[in-house]
Amino acid sequence: MTSVNEKTCIGCGLCLAVCPGNAIVLYNSKARIDTQRCTDCGQCISVCPSNAITETAISQIDELKKRLANIKQRVTSLSRNINYLAGKK
Ligand code: SF4
Ligand code: SF4
Repeated sequence: MTSVNEKTCIGCGLCLAVCPGNAIVLYNSKARIDTQRCTDCGQCISVCPSNAITETAISQIDELKKRLANIKQRVTSLSRNINYLAGKK
């Protein structure tokens, strides 16, 4: 997923001009991407003069999902151990 860093976007509008899916609008002089329309073609990333657009979200979300799954497994395991120990008393 492509996303805009609003802190570094200077509102130049170059990304809007190249987006083939009209997925970008300027709001308060900051680019905003409509994720429903974005096809992740990457053209906006290559024209942005301030490197405000990145394609980081998917890898970060995948990584977070893995970590959450890991935590869930540990919590389940701990919960089983607690129940086991509670039953022993
Ligand atoms: S990645 Fe492509 S489709 Fe998505 S906002 Fe950028 S230019 Fe538009
Ligand atoms: S090209 Fe970059 S700096 Fe210009 S409006 Fe788009 S995101 Fe902002």
